[in-house]
Amino acid sequence: MDADAVVVGSGPNGLVAAVTLARAGRRVLLLEAADRFGGGLRSGELTLPGRVHDFGATVMAMALASPAFRGLELKGVEFVHPPVPAAHPLDGRPAVLVHRDPVRTAAGLGRDARAWLATVGATARAGLPLVELLLKPLGPWGGVPPAAFAAAAGFGAAALLPATTFARRAFRTTEARAVIAGMAAHSVLDLRSPVSAGYGLLLASLAHLVGWPLVRGGSQVLADALVAELRALGGEAVTGHRVRRLAEVRAPVVVLDVTPRQLLAMADLPSAYRRRLERYRYGPGVFKLDWALDGPVPWRDPAVAGAGTVHLGGTLEEIALSEAETSRGRVSPRPYVLVVQPYAADPTRGGHTLWAYCHVPNGSRADLTGAVEAQIERYAPGFRERVLARHAMGPAELEAFDPNLVGGDISGGLSSLAQFLRRPVWSPAPWRTPLPGVFLCSAATPPGGGAHGMGGWQAARLALRP
Ligand SMILES: Cc1cc2nc3c(=O)[nH]c(=O)nc-3n(C[C@H](O)[C@H](O)[C@H](O)COP(=O)(O)OP(=O)(O)OC[C@H]3O[C@@H](n4cnc5c(N)ncnc54)[C@H](O)[C@@H]3O)c2cc1C
Repeated sequence: MDADAVVVGSGPNGLVAAVTLARAGRRVLLLEAADRFGGGLRSGELTLPGRVHDFGATVMAMALASPAFRGLELKGVEFVHPPVPAAHPLDGRPAVLVHRDPVRTAAGLGRDARAWLATVGATARAGLPLVELLLKPLGPWGGVPPAAFAAAAGFGAAALLPATTFARRAFRTTEARAVIAGMAAHSVLDLRSPVSAGYGLLLASLAHLVGWPLVRGGSQVLADALVAELRALGGEAVTGHRVRRLAEVRAPVVVLDVTPRQLLAMADLPSAYRRRLERYRYGPGVFKLDWALDGPVPWRDPAVAGAGTVHLGGTLEEIALSEAETSRGRVSPRPYVLVVQPYAADPTRGGHTLWAYCHVPNGSRADLTGAVEAQIERYAPGFRERVLARHAMGPAELEAFDPNLVGGDISGGLSSLAQFLRRPVWSPAPWRTPLPGVFLCSAATPPGGGAHGMGGWQAARLALRP
């Protein structure tokens, strides 16, 4: 195919870039190294025949809130909601539940009910325009109502704080502080670092605003729908094609769904840009487990059964300690564990499948199976007896599965304040590289990690500019 544009890599960002370019009339060729499209959206059998596991992303709050995906109106993709977006079990007391309804959530937080509504609730009330602004912090801002900028200023004051500071200032109860810690830990940051509160606030407010849904049948369905759309627009999509050198790809526009380390290996870059990319930092990795179970997890608090996502690790102090250890390069013996139980929302995955991960130092070779399962047993005694089969992936296996997961980093690079502003370089258009017609679109560009497709949308938008 004589392509106008070649997209390298088919994660959500590459797929959105490819479809956006094709919708603008470009002849697009999409090249994917793996044997399936989707990157972090892939699903497949990891444990037993017939069991559908998401290799990466399951929770589609970002996709649902993202202007990049909302604009695509894909056919055949059904978002299904668990009864409860997220739960946070605690020792010796009822689990905290984050419901779609902020008032119902607040009612479970006792003395912190009003504080929840004034912080997380207020962020959710600011609505999708605020989320849109946060997902495209560098613009374009056409169509964003002025009220969203005022809301962003209010959000920013709290969001810039470390999660530990924010949680202690805003809340008095163990429950509310723990919930914010569990949310903020998605950032994979030391919770004493700036902006970690922002991730917690945004994710918790998305539970109220759009919910934390899953794709019925697995996230692969979303990736396949994007590929089908590309092909319907005349584009070509190829798996099993790893681009090793940029020179192999010839087209007026090349959009790369890769992170800086890969770009450095692929291309001869001007030395100033090369040095800037060499300074780009990756964050901690993850150790992920997938299980086939013979029934639901036997949570001590039965209310947790309805939650799509469960945050384990106890109090703010415990979770902050575990994340601080990881950031210092040490393996935490009692890690914060993020559990996803797709069966709470989607009965079509061949039975009770479950996944969980904990954070580990970048590139760690430690086997955290015992530590992760111990955290689940802590809140669900008898869990191990439900396990029919398990599959583990540490940083090395994750990177082999997707080269963008450098050292097991699932966010495409550290999500620090510095790298929020410099992702991967400080520029009003960081998707543009100094090579003519070559753009970056991965999670190593704004707004960072997550299945939102915004990097792809931004890169395609720039590439389409006359
Ligand atoms: C275990 C795990 C759980 C997660 N959970 C969630 C979640 O619940 N919700 C959420 O929003 N996000 C989640 N994420 C994060 C999310 O999946 C990523 O942020 C997102 O997929 C990044 O998209 P991307 O397009 O930048 O890159 P990726 O999805 O990583 O895709 C990059 C693609 O490019 C291909 N590629 C790379 N180099 C080349 C090359 N040289 N030639 C050809 N192809 C190449 C790769 O094979 C891959 O398919 C999770 C990630 C992981 C790993």
